[in-house]
Amino acid sequence: MKKFLYVLIGCCLAVLVLGCAERFGKRNQDIPVQSVDTAMGTIVNQTVYAKDGAVISEEILNLITALEREVVSWRVDTAELYEINNWAGEEQKISNQMIEILQTCSEISYISSGAFDITVGSLARLWDIDTWAGQDNISEYHLPNDAEVLQCLEYTGYEKIVLTDGTINLPEQMQLDLGAVGKGIALDEIRAYLEQKEGITAAVISVGGSILTYGAKPDGKPWRVGIVNPLDSSGNLGYLELDGEWCVSTSGDYERYVEIDGIRYHHIINPQTGYPAKSGVKGVTILSKDGLLSDALSTACFILGEEKGRELAEHFGAEALFVDEGGNLVMTDGMERYFHLSKT
Ligand code: AMP
Ligand code: MG
Repeated sequence: MKKFLYVLIGCCLAVLVLGCAERFGKRNQDIPVQSVDTAMGTIVNQTVYAKDGAVISEEILNLITALEREVVSWRVDTAELYEINNWAGEEQKISNQMIEILQTCSEISYISSGAFDITVGSLARLWDIDTWAGQDNISEYHLPNDAEVLQCLEYTGYEKIVLTDGTINLPEQMQLDLGAVGKGIALDEIRAYLEQKEGITAAVISVGGSILTYGAKPDGKPWRVGIVNPLDSSGNLGYLELDGEWCVSTSGDYERYVEIDGIRYHHIINPQTGYPAKSGVKGVTILSKDGLLSDALSTACFILGEEKGRELAEHFGAEALFVDEGGNLVMTDGMERYFHLSKT
């Protein structure tokens, strides 16, 4: 009888503990884990609704760091891109992942009439904006002269890359730069990771100016993604209301720049001139289901300006929102469904 009582009490306790654990688990997924870190030379912001949100966030951060270190960095000597640049002038074997990236980039270059061009590496190193942006010792910055720009233009031009099944051959001195797509590639990898992982309800992850929405928030409300005002980047112009299947990328002349004698030199280069692009656009936001595409198109549309940029976005089935120097907003018809102006 005593034994029976012990078993009964034991069973009741087990049911109680399991019930609590289940309820706690559910509540856990309703409260997101939020984190802010740096990776890929930019800020990574994560909001993850999952059973093990902290573990998931850490794995995502590791994934971004590995992508930078092993594949897309021109700076880190363990990255495949670094090696490609290092051996310019000779035929080299490259990974399937790199072939896919380069083929997609080449297609976007072709369709954008060369506005988007990852062969701007030597120009980007010459301008060196990323190193100097936001610094106060700007008097030491070396502003390139016309002859130097012309010299680098010699090593620029996506059509000069020889890409075969499994190999690449860059002309000597040419340097590739995946800065315009790295964050977007990271978003594609993060989505693939989230999709194969169990126990994740929803997430919103931003890697610099590129943001991924995933899944449905437990409260059923849409994700809100703020659109920075390029004329005053401390505030938002408005926001996009999105479900969990989008990538949003923004490019603007306020992100990284140096100002000398009142002239702003920013980090997005027009491959035709070799100088920072001037199209009258201050900021462009692209909405696409594909991360690489959203990132590449925001850079390309910034260079092309509103009219040609809109055509380019539409060609790839993406939505675009442009802000010009006067603060005027122009967007594709599809974008109007998602965009809302901030109340002033
Ligand atoms: P994003 O901030 O995504 O617009 O990317 C800007 C970065 O892309 C720069 O810092 C350069 O590394 C690289 N870049 C600059 N100009 C171009 C261009 N015309 N085509 C492709 N990449 C570029
Ligand atoms: Mg980009």
